[in-house]
Amino acid sequence: MEQTFIMIKPDGVQRGLVGEIIKRFEQKGFTLRGLKLMNVERAFAEKHYEDLSARPFFGGLVEYIISGPVVAMVWEGKNVVVTGRKIIGATNPSESSPGTIRGDFAVEIGRNVIHGSDAVESAKKEIALWFPDGTVNWQSSLHPWICE
Ligand code: UDP
Ligand code: MG
Repeated sequence: MEQTFIMIKPDGVQRGLVGEIIKRFEQKGFTLRGLKLMNVERAFAEKHYEDLSARPFFGGLVEYIISGPVVAMVWEGKNVVVTGRKIIGATNPSESSPGTIRGDFAVEIGRNVIHGSDAVESAKKEIALWFPDGTVNWQSSLHPWICE
């Protein structure tokens, strides 16, 4: 079953949005497979965003991610990578639709509350980086009420 890596960024944690964000993924029908609150070291943040290291905003992005604790999660379900990105909304909150997390809770690209993997391959890479000891294998008793 497909999995994605979701991170509530430091602004989302500070603003008390952890429960609201988890609720949206739970109520959609996705399954939580991993969850931890953690402080990220600079080198780790740089590794997570290594594909963006040449971009002008990279320094500010790394400062942002290490500015406070983040909530790292693995969510599982049918098409969870693409659907997760839809739940999150467009990168720039000025363009994110109302009803999405960024559309409802953010105004600036550099404080856009949440990260989600952009493809199945990057999800695998990010899950391996953030959850090197693996995740929890379980099946919700609601599964047959959500999936055919
Ligand atoms: N970002 C930024 N300025 C930009 C583009 C991106 O500060 O011009 C930040 C923003 O927080 C974004 C993150 O860098 O979420 C990663 O960028 P990406 O293009 O991967 O967007 P995402 O996948 O998070 O939507
Ligand atoms: Mg991205």
